[in-house]
Order: sequence, then structure tokens, then C-alpha cells
Amino acid sequence: MEQKKFKTEVSELLHLIVHSLYSHKEIFLRELVSNSSDALDKLKYLTLTDDKLKELAFEPRIDISFTEEGEDRTLTISDNGLGMSHNDLADNLGTIASSGTKKFLASLTEEQKKDSNLIGQFGVGFYSAFMVAKKVEVVSRRAGEEQAWKWSSTGKGSYTLDEAERESQGTTIVLYLNEEGSEYANRWQIEQLVKKYSDHIAYPIFLSYDQPSYDDKKKDDEGNPLKTVEHKVEQINSSSALWRRSKNELTDEEYKEFYKQSSYDSEDPLFYLHTRAEGATEYITLFFIPSKAPFDMYYADYKPGVKLYVKRVYITDDDKELLPSYLRFVRGVIDSEDLPLNVSREILQQNRVMNAIRTASVKKLLGEFQKISEQNPDLYATFIEQYNRPLKEGLYSDYANRDALLELVRFKSSNEDGFVSLASYKERMKSDQKSIYYIAGGKEETLKASPLLEAYRKKGYEVLIMSDDIDDIVVGSIGTYKELPLKAINKSGAVDDLKEEGEKQEETKEAKALIEKVKKALGDKVKDVVASSRLADSPAVVVVDENDPSAQMQQILKSMGQTDFEEAKPILEINVEDAMVKKIENSDDEQYIEQLSSVLLDQALLAEGVMPKDPVGFAKRLHALLST
Ligand code: ADP
Repeated sequence: MEQKKFKTEVSELLHLIVHSLYSHKEIFLRELVSNSSDALDKLKYLTLTDDKLKELAFEPRIDISFTEEGEDRTLTISDNGLGMSHNDLADNLGTIASSGTKKFLASLTEEQKKDSNLIGQFGVGFYSAFMVAKKVEVVSRRAGEEQAWKWSSTGKGSYTLDEAERESQGTTIVLYLNEEGSEYANRWQIEQLVKKYSDHIAYPIFLSYDQPSYDDKKKDDEGNPLKTVEHKVEQINSSSALWRRSKNELTDEEYKEFYKQSSYDSEDPLFYLHTRAEGATEYITLFFIPSKAPFDMYYADYKPGVKLYVKRVYITDDDKELLPSYLRFVRGVIDSEDLPLNVSREILQQNRVMNAIRTASVKKLLGEFQKISEQNPDLYATFIEQYNRPLKEGLYSDYANRDALLELVRFKSSNEDGFVSLASYKERMKSDQKSIYYIAGGKEETLKASPLLEAYRKKGYEVLIMSDDIDDIVVGSIGTYKELPLKAINKSGAVDDLKEEGEKQEETKEAKALIEKVKKALGDKVKDVVASSRLADSPAVVVVDENDPSAQMQQILKSMGQTDFEEAKPILEINVEDAMVKKIENSDDEQYIEQLSSVLLDQALLAEGVMPKDPVGFAKRLHALLST
């Protein structure tokens, strides 16, 4: 016999499950049944594609039995699926295979670890058995192998692996129920849980139980009615692939239960979308939008949520090509009539049928999002809270659907609370307004307080506040919305729009002299100095050249360790009417002009949330100026 220690993360996961999911302990049965179902899926697939297994006589099924008397109450779940080899057992039931789950665990705070909804969000899987069992034994034999193996553990740090016997391929899991779990050694409990969580598992689930009956006419030796016990085996799920049934015969409840059971989510989905396509390509899709964004949505190795079936045979749930990556939060099923069963990942990527399904699915989903945004604004607001950002990713990755996506994304605004759409911005535009204005690259509060907004406010122009760190990258790829250019007010190009019709473009002689003074004082700290026509209450602002990244963007790039870009120098716009600026105009003292000009630049940077290059110099100059 071998004794092995759990990897530390397993011990931690076990601890978490037992302590946080306690009030949801009944889900253990759903987890074990869906593992069995997965194993049956895998074997069914292999019997169709693997020459060595083609001959295998295989009637997929799951069996549940229990003992309710005696010291040890047990519950047994058995399947004739793929099974596990010696190494599979050690790898799958001794470590946490999914790196997403590992990272998720590591990222949880102590507070979050107590939140059962959060924990329930990722598949707790096999280990949930330890919520109801003091000991778990797994006897498994992998299809195509002769030797079976027994894995056994009390869930406390280690497990044993031993040779065992099993007639044919598959896995049998015996739970030795603990006090909290003893209620599950009961026919009604099991039936109810299977109905609730596993009704749509595509394979039959059988429950064996003993049914006593009493015959009044026949008496036993003591004169009591004669008791006979009949052993029964009964199918307790409806075992139909839910997505294959027609919409009209399915209830909202059934959809929701199916979602929860297949997506390991304890909450109802926000909404779902069930489509049957007939004609050139035949397929069914059933998509769900989770009410909370999946925890691994921003991990590079996120787990895709859509399963591919071909004629009801499960093919894969690990293909990132089924939907474009910006829709990675979508859960559900694609079931095709036309794909070959032995479709490989490489084939999937270029397959004409798969491409058609993917293209149509994206259109359907985006269309549904649009419909909800029009018909159910509250629901859409919840949706946007979770998924605005991935949709924005779509703006630069899915050019074909750019117009649809432009209607779906939302931004903060200088004039409105909450999120606004580009369409509603357009409706509110002033009659003389030529562009859609935005300010990007910084925190919402900083952007909203930017002095650059002053002139737009005065004219009644709304400015979109693009504070999401992805906005700066995305907005460049938008360019125009319904032929209206999008202009960054913190870039030099937007300025001209504010000039009144026929406004004098020429700077006065005084202004020219002033600008020369400031330019000389600042030297190569700035790209240019210009007189501003859009500042009311501030002495100066910094903008960047139309083609340069914004000051905040440069800061983000630096913080990401990117230093190989040429630093874009700011353009300083000065308000020639401002009292501080007038002081420069009226002075001949070079040192004084240098001090004032530098402070002018640094305070403008600070107002944009950007640290001055030389904070000590800034403080010194400020001190010198305030002391005279
Ligand atoms: P998950 O199912 O989320 O991968 P689990 O902890 O439930 O995580 O299971 C870990 C792995 O153990 C599974 O991915 C599967 O490979 C294997 N496994 C679990 N139960 C069975 C079973 N009944 N038959 C075959 N393999 C199984």
C-alpha cells in the first residue's frame, strides 16, 4: 500500500469547502454525479473515435445505492465511464489540476473565504464529498486497462493507493457518511437531490433500494404480518439533453436548474438564449449569461464555459475557439448535427461548419444584448456592470461586429449619472457640436475634475469620462460613431472645435511675447506652449499631441514595465487672462519667470493626476515663490 500526502493546496481547498460551503453541503451529490457524467461522455467519445475501444460493449449508466442500517451509513455512486488509472487517481484526486482554481484560491482574502457564493462559483468538485463523509473510497479501473485501483482518504492530509478489483471499466465512490451526512442515506433525499440538480444529465441514473412490504394474510411466527423485502432498481432522472427539447415545453425553472447544475453556479443566470438553427447547417445553441462575471475572466488561462456536442455526444468543453475570447463569460452548449465526431482542435479552428455556427452565435448573442438594453434597462445595467469591459475588448478584436458592439458598450459621462451609450450621447448633442468628446486615461474623479472640462461645460458639451484602463486602448480603434469623430479633449486636436465661428485665430503681440518667454523658460520639458481659448478658471493645462499616448497612458505603460516607447512631451496650454500668467508677462526677472513657468507646468500635470518629473524641485520653487 502506498501512502501519499495531499499537495498543500488540496488541504487548503478541503478546509475551505468544509468550512464555507457547509450550508450548501447537499451539492456534493451534484458534483459527484456530474463527474460521472463527464467520465461517461469521455468514454462514449473514445468508443467512437479510438480503434482500441471501438469494440467495447458500453451502456452508459450511473448507479446510486446506500446502506441505512448498521454502524456505517454509506452512500455509493458508481459509473461505467472512462475510469482512472493509478496515475490518474494520484493526479486528479491528490492535487488541484486546474491552475485557474489554484490562482483563485490564492487571491481570496480571509473575508472572501467565508463567502459561500464565491466559493461555490468555481467547481469544488470531488472534494465536496468530505463535507458529508468521514472517509471516501474510490475504486476505479480505466477503460483498456486490466488493473483496478483503490484510493482512500479521510480528507486529513493524506490518502492511500492500493491494488483493487473491479469487473469492468468505471469508477465507484463509497462515502462513509459522517453525522452531518447521515441524512443522505435515504431514498427520498437522494431522489429529491437528483431531480433538483441532475435531472438533465444525459445518462440514466439508477437508484437501488429495498422496499419492504407487509402481507396481512400471512403471519410470521410471532403473529405479525409477514414482511417481505423486495430489491428495486429505478431510474430517477429524466436523462434528456435539455437543450434538445423545444422551448415551449421548457419552464424558466428548468432552464435555471440546468444552468446551475452544468455551470457550478449557485446563482440563477442573468438571462439565457435558446436557438435551434435549421437549414444549411443544423445545430442547437443554449447560452447563459452568469449573474456574476466568472472569477477567472481576466486570467490568461481562463476556462471557457461552452461545451461542444456533436449529435448529443460530448466533444469538448475546453476549446477557446467556440466563441471569440471577448465572449468568454458566456456559458452553455453548442450541439451540431453536421460536424464529424472525431473533430480535432485544429480542424475546429478552420472548419466551415464551426465557423458558421460561431459567426451566427455571436450575432445572436449581441442581438440579444441589444434587445435587453432596449426592453429591460435595469437588467442591462446589471449586465453592463459585469461585462462592459469584455465587450470593449470586442471593439478592437471583432471588427465585423464593431457597429453592434458600439451600441452595447457604456461610458461614464460629465453630464449624466451612471453609464451612458453613444446613441444617447448623440441625442443630447448641441446643435453646433461637431464631435463626440471624451477624456481618457486616469481615475474617474481625476478626469471629472480636470480643468480641461471647463470650456466644454461652458458650451454645454457633454464629455465622456473614459476611466476604465482599457478605454484608452479601445477608443483609438473606435475612430468614429455614426460619422461623428471621437476626440480626446486632452489631445491637441479637439481644441479647434471650441473656437467660435470667425474667432480671431491670430495671437496678439503680447500673447506671442509671453509664449516665447514661457517656451524659453521650460526648454525641452515641453513639446510646445500655446495660448488657450478653453480655460476659464485654471492658469494652464497639459495636453498631448494628437498622435502621442496621453500622459496617464504613459504612466500606465511605465508601471507595466514598458519603457521602450519614446516619451511624449506635453503641450502646455496657458490661459493668457490668468493672474499668475500675467505675472510672467509683466516680469523681466529670468529666474522668477523660470520658477513661475515650471510651477505652471507642474501644477497642470498634477491636476491631470500625473506626478511632476522633479517633485523636490517643484516644492522648492513653490516655497521660493511663496516666500517673496
Ligand atoms: P473537476 O471535475 O472540476 O475537474 P474534480 O475535483 O471533481 O474536479 O475531479 C478531478 C478530476 O478527477 C476530474 O477532472 C476527472 O479527471 C477525475 N474524476 C473525478 N471523478 C471521476 C469519475 N467518476 N470517473 C473518472 N474520472 C473522475
